[in-house]
Amino acid sequence: RLPVVAIVGRPNVGKSTLFNRLVGKKLALVDDRPGVTRDRREGDASLLGLDFRIIDTAGYEDEDPDTLPGRMRRQTQAAVDGADVALFLIDSRAGIVPLDEEIARWLRGADTPIVLVANKVEGRSGEQGVLESLALGFGDPVQMSAEHGEGVADLFEALRPFI
Ligand code: GDP
Ligand code: MG
Repeated sequence: RLPVVAIVGRPNVGKSTLFNRLVGKKLALVDDRPGVTRDRREGDASLLGLDFRIIDTAGYEDEDPDTLPGRMRRQTQAAVDGADVALFLIDSRAGIVPLDEEIARWLRGADTPIVLVANKVEGRSGEQGVLESLALGFGDPVQMSAEHGEGVADLFEALRPFI
């Protein structure tokens, strides 16, 4: 079977954009409104010759904000538990927000290796978010732009030991 990579993170950090880039097809819906992807999606991905199965987590739209964290946590943990490695995305333009810190706490106890990814790094924008992300406790983030395809080689290097 192919190794499994899960993409996790709060809504609007660029999970579906990264999924689409790795799968190379528009299988995941990307929308400017936060958290618009309807469901968990899976696809066969290829990254510089590395082949794996990729899981895009989402489906939080139209949720009661009071029950959102529980649902999100269950979905995130199910995806991470079934994966060989998880990509934990943050939005380096927005910086670290409390929900990122909460997700980091969920992930800290996981048996699955976690690769922190600072997305939306384009040129110098995002530097502050990259620095803030160090406090999440997952080491230096992979800095990339899923939208513009920057940092793909760094993502490859970070994933390769696990798949
Ligand atoms: P998700 O909710 O985590 O799946 O996030 P989406 O992939 O739907 O993206 C949310 C928004 O961020 C969309 O407007 C994307 O176009 C935008 N976005 C995603 N990746 C990048 C990136 O690398 N750079 C910038 N500037 N915007 C991005
Ligand atoms: Mg999405």
